[in-house]
Amino acid sequence: MSILKVAHLGHPVLRQVAEPVAKANLLSATTQQFIDDLIETVHEYDGVGLAAPQVHVSQRIFVVEILPDNPRYTERNDEGPLRLVMINPSLKFPGAEKASGWEGCLSLPNIRGLVPRYTQVQVTAWDRQGNSQSWSLQGFAAIVVQHENDHLDGILYPDRMSDLRSLTFDAEYDRFWKTYQAEK
Ligand code: ZN
Repeated sequence: MSILKVAHLGHPVLRQVAEPVAKANLLSATTQQFIDDLIETVHEYDGVGLAAPQVHVSQRIFVVEILPDNPRYTERNDEGPLRLVMINPSLKFPGAEKASGWEGCLSLPNIRGLVPRYTQVQVTAWDRQGNSQSWSLQGFAAIVVQHENDHLDGILYPDRMSDLRSLTFDAEYDRFWKTYQAEK
């Protein structure tokens, strides 16, 4: 197991459209080890999700690790635990409803912003064994999956913000925004 180096805003890999994963490649020891490393890396940095392009691997793989007691998302500690590995995901949005929630990103350290996202998402993806699975997600999980899936298309959360004025450093978030009630 190893902790992977995270690409930061400005690195071109974050703006590439990632390649689909072939099943034989997914089942290889190298890729299975890579998935374990993604999970270890997201834990190391207290993330709730991590996509392969964020660690310089332009493939359609991401992990979601919504665990209790995450210090970066204390207001979401009532959600989860939810641990997912998604390969070649496809998202559908059954409703038109969107809501704004706070998002950060390990590729944009120490900063967060309010991002409108669909409140419900249906995902079809392979799990790490290459079996096709479907998930119907809402709440924080729906936000995280939309955020991570965007990484596979070279999209970062500020691209999705409707108003950049909520962009804030974590320290100022704690001082000025934490009690701000985003529409849920
Ligand atoms: Zn991110």
